[in-house]
Amino acid sequence: MSFSVLNPATEEVVAEIAEADACAVDAAVEAGAKVFAAGTWSRASVEQRQDMLRKIARLIEAHADELADLESLNTGLLLREARRRHVARAARNFDFFADYIGQSVGELYQQHPGFLTMVLREPVGVAALIAPWNAPLALGSMKIAAAIAFGNSCVIKPSEQAPLAIMRMVEIIAEAGLAPGVLSLVNGRGAVTGEALVRHRLVDLVSFTGGTATGRRIASAAGEGLKAVTMELGGKSANIIFESADFDRALDAALLGVFDNNGQQCLAGSRILVQRSIADRFIEAFAARTKAIRIGDPRDPATELGPVASAAQRERVLEHYARAIDEGAIGLAGGGRPAGLPRGFYVEPVAVEAPSNDLAACQEEIFGPFATIIRFDTAEEAYAIANGTRFGLVSYVWSRDAAQIAEAQERLESGVVWINTPVARELRAPFGGFKESGVGAEGGRACEAFYTRQKTVMTPRRPVALERLGTA
Ligand code: NAD
Repeated sequence: MSFSVLNPATEEVVAEIAEADACAVDAAVEAGAKVFAAGTWSRASVEQRQDMLRKIARLIEAHADELADLESLNTGLLLREARRRHVARAARNFDFFADYIGQSVGELYQQHPGFLTMVLREPVGVAALIAPWNAPLALGSMKIAAAIAFGNSCVIKPSEQAPLAIMRMVEIIAEAGLAPGVLSLVNGRGAVTGEALVRHRLVDLVSFTGGTATGRRIASAAGEGLKAVTMELGGKSANIIFESADFDRALDAALLGVFDNNGQQCLAGSRILVQRSIADRFIEAFAARTKAIRIGDPRDPATELGPVASAAQRERVLEHYARAIDEGAIGLAGGGRPAGLPRGFYVEPVAVEAPSNDLAACQEEIFGPFATIIRFDTAEEAYAIANGTRFGLVSYVWSRDAAQIAEAQERLESGVVWINTPVARELRAPFGGFKESGVGAEGGRACEAFYTRQKTVMTPRRPVALERLGTA
């Protein structure tokens, strides 16, 4: 069986891909388990692993244009962003873990009078890595780099919608000389290839990024096999703009926060909460700017918003718009298909004002260019709205009042809080969601904890007293 992948900007089929069935998945996992047991990579020195990770990073940089091209072709992401951000991030992920493993420290307990006790960390085995389609290279490379840096083998399954750039990256990694079997790729649908991978008896770890419903299914399957999981799931994040904010910067960042990456980001600030005293001015400016966003070919450097990834995503945006209006929202911008772009999954970016946080558009992750704006009076009300969701991935706060900032960062229920900034990433720090946005996190120490297992070794300081059985 094979499946087609499309260019969302033209709706043309750009590749036919063979689906990996249970047999092919088995071969990939077996190869990973075999090379793991042989120790070729799992017991390679830290220096050898660092050299390889850095070599991979350099090769990714050397192929940056080609990778960016594929990523944009297959996802509709702006070509310049794929080049500047996504490919750069992929290379940086390998460099980051190369540096990290050179500096990580262990534990030693010396309080016990009789023993020195040390805690060793070792690789776990074979990791199943399951990636989404919205930022395949950036997210897939994080998983691969982390898994192999700590000595594991891994099998990556890209999204069946957008596998092309990851497929090329995996080839590049092989060209770098990583031992065969340490990294394999399997293509296919979640229910077929993904399930077979997660349920494989030789898979020890499952790292998943994708939707919450899928995450729940995968975590259950992994749970049956007692496999550890990290789950990076969906979001419905609040961007709170207090009246004390720098208005212009908050406006710029609110637009970026929801429409960047063609609006398809787990960490989108898709609920924009604005304090009532500045709301009229903000809403007017936000609507005008949303209407002025340049929609078009993702390869054109002037384009600001490319197509969404699929026809289904476009329908989702349009249906949510109609439903929001039905539920009492005020349409401010968008809600239709842009003129002059008959081909491609283009949709006008949407802005609506929601009378309440209960609207479906405020509670469900739409995962497209869709902003809902909600007015609030007091900080308490803002926290209640921000936290009034089953998700808890990230939050954004715009304020110039130090006490308000200090309070907000305590009160918001999310794994990351960004103050007076759009998205920023510190790879050393954990990135992970609260509530239904995830389990576990990615980041330096978080990945070390996940991709290694601890082994406690006790050594007596002096010969221990032994009872002598059988000598009475
Ligand atoms: P998805 O859940 O539909 O699919 C993600 C991956 O899971 C794909 O590779 C898919 O084939 C696979 N899959 C599906 N069913 C499976 C199964 N039963 N067993 C094994 N694998 C299975 O997600 P998507 O539509 O590709 O991506 C969008 C979602 O990802 C959004 O909800 C978004 O918020 C989330 N996301 C989260 C983060 C984060 O870091 N928290 C980052 C990016 C995207």
